[in-house]
Amino acid sequence: MHLSKFQTEEFSILASDIWKRLFPARTRRPFPLPNLPRIGIGRRANPILGMDINLFKLCSGLRVLGYFMILLFAAIVAVTYYAVVLVTWGPLLFHGGFSSFLAIAIISVFHILLILLIWCYFMVVFNDPGSVPENWRLLSEESLEAGVPTTLSNHVAPETSASAWPPSDGLERRRQTGYCSRCQNGKPPRCHHCSICQRCVLKMDHHCIWVVNCVGARNYKFFLLFLLYTFLETTLDCLALVPSFIRFFGGARDHSLSPGSFAVVFLASILNLAFALSLLCFVIMHLSLLLSNTTSVEVYEKKKGVRWRYDLGRKTNFEQVFGTKKALWLLPMFSKEDLDNVPALQGLEFPTRSDVEA
Ligand SMILES: [Zn+2]
Ligand SMILES: [Zn+2]
Repeated sequence: MHLSKFQTEEFSILASDIWKRLFPARTRRPFPLPNLPRIGIGRRANPILGMDINLFKLCSGLRVLGYFMILLFAAIVAVTYYAVVLVTWGPLLFHGGFSSFLAIAIISVFHILLILLIWCYFMVVFNDPGSVPENWRLLSEESLEAGVPTTLSNHVAPETSASAWPPSDGLERRRQTGYCSRCQNGKPPRCHHCSICQRCVLKMDHHCIWVVNCVGARNYKFFLLFLLYTFLETTLDCLALVPSFIRFFGGARDHSLSPGSFAVVFLASILNLAFALSLLCFVIMHLSLLLSNTTSVEVYEKKKGVRWRYDLGRKTNFEQVFGTKKALWLLPMFSKEDLDNVPALQGLEFPTRSDVEA
């Protein structure tokens, strides 16, 4: 098939339009990238190649790697599905007796966890972690300079001001806010600039290349649930693949596993064991961060011996990320009341210990 030049151009415009709709957060560039100074980590002259290397541009290159990670995630799921369901437990479904009962139980739990983890995964990938409204600093600074008592909730839903979280005075918050010279905009408390997304992210935790997105105020819960369900699923897979090893290496000569199928089972076991062990560390680390209301970035900002100013007690810390509706704690969604009444989920203002104790 021969495409004319006009058709090729039309196709590339259409492809770029689909790309922008799929990944709106990453294609937004609200500010022109300034010429970075030739000092510090921005640009460094490479004496061997005789050219400048912009480390921030290298960071942006990680986004391309990120899209490849979605395919890698799909491939790992496919390999594991083949090994656990089609090779190991599927054939036992119709054997009858206890093995059929066990096969039904394992395949059911496997599918429930798989649906939950894929749901959480796409919620983290496609949900904006939260960006700073345009001219955010100017609005709040203007109010403060005019002597008008205000909180940062001017920029979020009006219902927020009637929330259960008492606002503190503007000066206290002003002290905690900053200014991002790269976005040329104000920085709310707990907000950080991501060099990969090239923008400020509300309550930024970290940039995760597995989910091709930053993890921040509005998708941290989805990320934690994704970690939890993936840990449970990979642990289940490690245990569920043991019978295939026994069948292959066991004394029975009539084992039904072909060398090809066993290679897939072996690969799936290695992958799942590696993920289960590393996810166990991540789950424990994020559980401790969640219960102390700290982000991965803020770990370095905390002073030893001083209680963290956002630590409001375990229950309140948990509710600031997971919401107050118990029925939705294990699902990647929030109730409308929580989105309206819990300022931390909006990401622009956060109650501190002084607010609660006042
Ligand atoms: Zn910024
Ligand atoms: Zn990012």
